[in-house]
Amino acid sequence: MFTCMTSSPEETGHLAELVGQKIREGTVLCLEGDLGAGKTLFVQSLARTLGVEGDVTSPTFNLMNVYEGICRIYHFDLYRLETEEELEDIGFYEYTEEPEGIVVIEWPDKFPESLPEDYIEVRIRKLGENTDERQIDFSSIGEKNQEFIKELEDFVHTGH
Ligand code: ADP
Ligand code: MG
Repeated sequence: MFTCMTSSPEETGHLAELVGQKIREGTVLCLEGDLGAGKTLFVQSLARTLGVEGDVTSPTFNLMNVYEGICRIYHFDLYRLETEEELEDIGFYEYTEEPEGIVVIEWPDKFPESLPEDYIEVRIRKLGENTDERQIDFSSIGEKNQEFIKELEDFVHTGH
């Protein structure tokens, strides 16, 4: 696990850009954090870095968006989902079990039992009510991304 602090949307955007430069196809990224933490902003910057040109908006109502960049990006938002059955209906497991491209999931904590074995967890915490300060923790869940998370930590902290 490693932690980054940001104090503006631009800084969080920059961090997501660094992640976008390193991330590999087949990776699932789970973004935890309260409303307004910066999950969607993070995905927007990540998607831009991966060459997505169109709108990147929170799929709160349509549940999943697909963007075309240098690879395909599947963007889920589980906030409005009530049952595990709905998750099945939107094809969640097909996208997350053997992921192609990159899968990003907002509100993964709504369905902890349904998450894949391997993923990168990004937890964004707002450090107060009226503040732009955020604490962002990156961890690797499962074996697959252990090495990657170390590489990412070096890259984020040293730039290489
Ligand atoms: P979420 O998807 O987590 O509900 P959004 O990304 O939609 O949140 O919104 C985050 C809001 O917080 C944006 O309006 C953004 O400008 C603002 N913000 C302020 N400071 C930061 C920061 N350090 N990192 C990310 N977002 C920030
Ligand atoms: Mg959002």
